[in-house]
Amino acid sequence: ILAADFLNLGRDIELLNNHADIIHLDVMDGTLVPNISFGFPVLEAVAKACTKKLDVHYMINNPGNYIEQTAKLGAMMMNVHYEACPHLHRTIQEIHNAGMKAGVTLNPATPVSVLEDIIKDVDMVLLMSVNPGFGGQSLIPYCLDKIRELREMKPELDIQIDGGVKLDNILACKEAGANVFVVGSAIFGKPNPEEVCREFVKLVNG
Ligand code: ZN
Repeated sequence: ILAADFLNLGRDIELLNNHADIIHLDVMDGTLVPNISFGFPVLEAVAKACTKKLDVHYMINNPGNYIEQTAKLGAMMMNVHYEACPHLHRTIQEIHNAGMKAGVTLNPATPVSVLEDIIKDVDMVLLMSVNPGFGGQSLIPYCLDKIRELREMKPELDIQIDGGVKLDNILACKEAGANVFVVGSAIFGKPNPEEVCREFVKLVNG
């Protein structure tokens, strides 16, 4: 929802309730990434309006401080950055103990090999396909190789791609092995977002 119209957030959540499987929330703290987005007042409002699963992507330092609060939202998934968690194993256990699935996010410059040992405990890996902080950027092409590498590492893993996903590259991401696609400005930036949602769903399921 980073690209949604925040003055009409209820309307935009309704669109996602009708067309998306998961609602993805990008929380930024201005220190791990060079931007600030929104915090718990917005997360709580979205959680109330949303009828789909919630995936909270924390682009923040010390995400482990917010596990209980995130579980209370009813979130299905809590995504933390590898770069922000010196004790990633502990953080993942705590997310699981709070009843959520655990996702680990890698920035474009972080190789997938850093997950070799922890991958058994991870439910989803989110590959940033742009440098995090801003919507509307272009997908970095070598991220497709990272998807392939991860898919080989753990065949049943959920692999999520976030940043620059558009109608003209989503199939390349799927073919590389991704199965969860975060789409923001490719939908909300368009004159007919509903139509674009349908096209995305058709492409991915077709
Ligand atoms: Zn995200």
